[in-house]
Parts: sequence; C-alpha cells; structure tokens
Amino acid sequence: MNNRDYCFTLLVGLSMAIIPTYQYSLEDHHKLLLISFDGLRWDYVDRRPDLESFNILREEGVKAEFLEPPFPSQTSPSHTTLATGLYVESHGVVHNVYYDRYSSEVVTGDFYRTLAINEWWDNGDEPIWITASSQGLKSGGYLFPGSNATIGGRTATRSILQTARTSKEESDWQERIDDVISWFVEDNFDFIALYFEQPDSDGHDKGPDDDIIESTTLPLINRTIGYLLSKVQEAGLTDELNIIIASDHGMTTVDIDVSFNDVISLVNYVNVSDIFFMFPYAALGLVEPYPNEREKVYNQLTGAHPRLNTFYKEDLPEYFHYSNNDRITSIVLTADLGYTMYRVFPGFHINKGEHGYDSKLPDMRASFFAIGPSFKKNYIVPGFQSIHVYELMCHLLGLTPAPNNGSLDVLYPILRDELLETTSFTTTNVQSTTSGAQRPVAVVHFLSILTLACWLIKHN
Ligand SMILES: [Zn+2]
Repeated sequence: MNNRDYCFTLLVGLSMAIIPTYQYSLEDHHKLLLISFDGLRWDYVDRRPDLESFNILREEGVKAEFLEPPFPSQTSPSHTTLATGLYVESHGVVHNVYYDRYSSEVVTGDFYRTLAINEWWDNGDEPIWITASSQGLKSGGYLFPGSNATIGGRTATRSILQTARTSKEESDWQERIDDVISWFVEDNFDFIALYFEQPDSDGHDKGPDDDIIESTTLPLINRTIGYLLSKVQEAGLTDELNIIIASDHGMTTVDIDVSFNDVISLVNYVNVSDIFFMFPYAALGLVEPYPNEREKVYNQLTGAHPRLNTFYKEDLPEYFHYSNNDRITSIVLTADLGYTMYRVFPGFHINKGEHGYDSKLPDMRASFFAIGPSFKKNYIVPGFQSIHVYELMCHLLGLTPAPNNGSLDVLYPILRDELLETTSFTTTNVQSTTSGAQRPVAVVHFLSILTLACWLIKHN
C-alpha cells in the first residue's frame, strides 16, 4: 500500500468512525407529539408546585430552565421558529398578522385570518410536518399556527385550521386530545403538532401577575396534561410516543395606570404624510417612510419618547436576527418592557399583559418539557433558544433536517444515556443566519484537516 492508498484508507476509516450515527432510522423511530400552550411563561409552573401533571413531567421527563423565543416574541413568528429551526428573518413569518408593506394599508390586523392566508406562510421554509411528510411519514397539524399552509406545493398529511370560532371550552380541549390519539392509533400518524390557546388569552386579559393564572389557568392546563397522559396510557402508546410540550413566548405586565405622558403615540412625533406604511403593534412598530423622507422620519422618532427605541433595520442588535428579510420595513421600533405603542393612543389599554419584546428579557421566556421513551427522567436542561427544537424533532423521527439555524448538540444531552453514542466527536459551534447545518460543516472541517495531514505525510 503506497502513501496515497494508506491515506485514503485512513481517511475513509476515520471518517466512518467519527461521523456520528445516532440518527434513528425511519423504521425504528418513535412517534412524536409536539404540544404548544400559547404564552406559557417559563416561570408560571413554579407558582403551583402542587399541580400533579407538571410534577409528572418534571419527575418522569425533562424540563428546561427556560425556552428563549426568537424576536419578535409573537405567536406566529415564534411557532414557525419552533417548527423550522429558523430565525424569523430566515423563515419569513415576520409578524403575527399579515401585511404587505408595499401596500399603504395593513391588509388584516387579525391573527386568525392570517392563519388562513397561505401567502404569509409560503416562504420556502420547511416546517417539521413537511419534512416528515416529504420523507414518507404521516404528519398532522391540529390548530398549530402555520400547519395548514401549503409551502412550495407541499403540506402536512392532515391539518385542522384554527379560526376565531374554534371552541375554547375544556371539553373541546379534551376532544382535541381524543382526536390526536385517534390519528396516532387508528391512522398510524408519526408526528402531530397540537395547539392550545391558553394561558396567552388570560395573560393578555388579566396580566401575568393576576391570580387567575394560578387559580384557574394553570389548573386547566394541569388537567389537560393529565387527561393526555391517561389517554396515552389507555391507548398503549406510553412506550411508543415521545411528547414535547413547548410554548412560544412569555408575558409581561402593561401598566394600566400609566399616565398620558408615558403613552407612545407615534403621530405625536412624525408627520403621517411622510410615511407610506406605519404599523404599531404593541411592543413592535414597523415604519416605511417615503424614500425621500426616510432620514427625516428616523431622526424624528429617535429619542422622541424615553421608552421607544428607533432602528434602521440593519442596525438592530444582531441577536434579533430581524434584518435580512424584505418584509421588514426600513425602520423598526421597539418598546421597552411593559410599554406599548399606538398610532394614536385610544384613551384606554386593551391588554393588561403583552409580549413581543426583546426575547432576551426574562419575562419573554417560554416553557419546555419533554417526556417519553427517548428522554431522560428527572432531568433539568439549561435554558436554550427555540431554534434547536426542530433538529431534536428530526432526530427523534429519523428525518434528515432541512437547513436551519439550530443544532442537535444543544438538546442531545436530554436523550436517555443508552441512546447516546460513545463517540468522542465534538462539533465546532458554527453560527450561521442562513444555514444551521452545523454538524456536516464540522465534519467537512475535520476531513479537510485530515486530508491536509495526509498530503503532508505523502510529501515528506
Ligand atoms: Zn402566542
């Protein structure tokens, strides 16, 4: 064997040895249920340590210290990040509601109507239910934001759209669970994403510190999880089904006694005739001035209010990942925690709780639990960004993930020890805003170094 042959053999042998092979195959994967409880702030559950179902999740599964949403910490953008592993600028669902910044009017300010506007969701990204259906699995979306969309001609195997008329009664919540169990058992689904609208509704209406969260909302969620676990057991799915419970954002208190001087009314600072498109929405404001007025409007808004922050979109903090998308207006406004902005202050506060603020703020953090045959028991994982959930779900289902911003390395430690490979391989933490295919990148780097070493041996 000459040097070149020796090096080639070494290269192939070592690459086979170091490339992690811990992906499940499509044949031996477990089923997976992803559940979102909208607005389940990271610390809510700690307020009621007596609630039994949450204790079962903690003791029999994994709990994260917190789950960090993307920016903006709004429902539609954050659910899409959970489902795709992409930052908001990369998946393109940049707002809770559908708008067209090339039209001077907001097309709809309505969250439910936006769920049915396919154009808003069809941006070339790949949610987990499409990754699954494209690779031969049966996937479903049950009221989960975005799961009914057709993206690039592809869909989930089955989906049910959430509308304003969707019943929010507890009996309906149980019916959702009955349906999902039936899809798994009767129709042999592999993956389902299921959505519940609480505690977001009560958090908005009453504020996150109102007693209703502890006295009514958390017990409802506790009973729902208990119902789910009992139905999973009845259906004989306990050893077959992994369950991830995640949320999209937290909630913070809006001060309802705020004086008129503290209210952010944008028309007080700009001339609306200079502006083509202006869309204030609680914590986030999107402003597109006429091209010749851009600098003037920017200067007028900068420093206009002590609780208002004005950015050219390219100057937003890099960790927002909220610049590189054409849907985002040239000027982006953010409010400080607890403040909301209006075009014209209506004279009253509609919501006592809000979200959508800087995702690094603790009040915006969400919850994460995981339970099932693949997960460790009684395990606490440090807080992490929600971009990493997609890679975990693909791994559990034996799927090849689409390019994304997450990394399996972050959540790999929550898997049961016997499922972990004993490889000593570690990846370089390559961060990218366009592709999170980090493991292949690290492998390529290693192989490049190895090839160089072989070349040096050969030429010595
Ligand atoms: Zn939400």
